[in-house]
Amino acid sequence: MFNIKFLDLQKQKKSIQKQLDTNIKTVLEHSKFIMGPEVQELEKKLKNISNVKYAVSCASGTDALILSMLALNIGKGDIVFCPSFTFPATAEAILITGAIPIFIDVSKETFNICYKELEKEIEKSLKKKLKPKAIVAVDLFGLPANYKRLNQIAKKYHLSLIADAAQSYGAMYNSKKVGSLSKITCTSFFPAKPLGCYGDGGAVFTDDLGIKEKLESLRAHGKGKEKYQIVEMGLNSRLDTIQAAILLAKLEIFNWENMERDRLAKIYSSEISNNFKKPIMLSNTSSVWAQYTIQSIKREKVINFLNEKNIPTMIYYPVPMHRQPAYRKFFKGDQGGSLKNSDYLSDHVFSIPIHAYLSELEQEYIIEKINEAEKTFL
Ligand SMILES: *Cc1c(COP(=O)(O)O)cnc(C)c1O
Repeated sequence: MFNIKFLDLQKQKKSIQKQLDTNIKTVLEHSKFIMGPEVQELEKKLKNISNVKYAVSCASGTDALILSMLALNIGKGDIVFCPSFTFPATAEAILITGAIPIFIDVSKETFNICYKELEKEIEKSLKKKLKPKAIVAVDLFGLPANYKRLNQIAKKYHLSLIADAAQSYGAMYNSKKVGSLSKITCTSFFPAKPLGCYGDGGAVFTDDLGIKEKLESLRAHGKGKEKYQIVEMGLNSRLDTIQAAILLAKLEIFNWENMERDRLAKIYSSEISNNFKKPIMLSNTSSVWAQYTIQSIKREKVINFLNEKNIPTMIYYPVPMHRQPAYRKFFKGDQGGSLKNSDYLSDHVFSIPIHAYLSELEQEYIIEKINEAEKTFL
């Protein structure tokens, strides 16, 4: 039978084994483990892929968010808006800086922040004399958020727009590359992301020289121009040279992998029964398919059925941020309202395998079993 993997990093590794071995060995030989030449080489490649002036690497996607907020002087008492249906790091990074998150509902079609709800909440916070400072947009599952609207709203209310592109590096929005869609963009190289290393890693993208210089200072304890001169309160958050070397090898197959996942996604979307709600496809905007996520009112039954047939599934994310024990105190729900789409999605989504090493027969088997589950339970 099949041995279907949710994600197959082993097969990926085999396909670039030689380059990985060479790149890692080079680092061991020169032993510049922190800020070695591979880090600059990678940053140069990343900025070219994103078509931006600067890429600053760092220790994780979470740190990329924290560094960005520090670089924008976001801190105590500031309000930062973010979607509720996301990975916890989006909210955590806001709280770490001392700022207060306001959770915004998402669209059921795109899984991304709803700009209409966002604008309503900005107006409300202004009426309450709060200090709105920034918006964090998340490109969930690899699909860029609505940057046209979000940039307009950010401009109208004088807010900074931070893009959390941890899941969307390599994607396009209105024919522009992720990394170039807002003032500042963060990504993650966690192993399971579209571009992953063999540990933690991240990067920040910007066209602003001042922000770039501040990020470079902040990731190294807030250093100034002279040695041991500290000009800001910073972090220790550099990308290890060995991880940069691994990413350089992964970049060789990055485009091909993205194209493969896109091909698989199109097959899923045309062949999976319409009784499941499938992800939206937009023109001029591409997803890198960090996940292929469908919705079902019979989720538990369907995933049990699939798991019994040896098809792995995941639930991203079972709890929205406004219901997390650590964050829910920031969600007042004062109008008796709720974030109904975020709640709905947390109860109904599940993700199925989508990776470049999934074979045609494996994908056919997955589709067959999903459609069988539909006949049995829906
Ligand atoms: C993975 C992820 C992060 C955090 O990245 P790490 O590298 O794991 O710290 C932040 N936001 C989103 C949306 C993510 O998916």
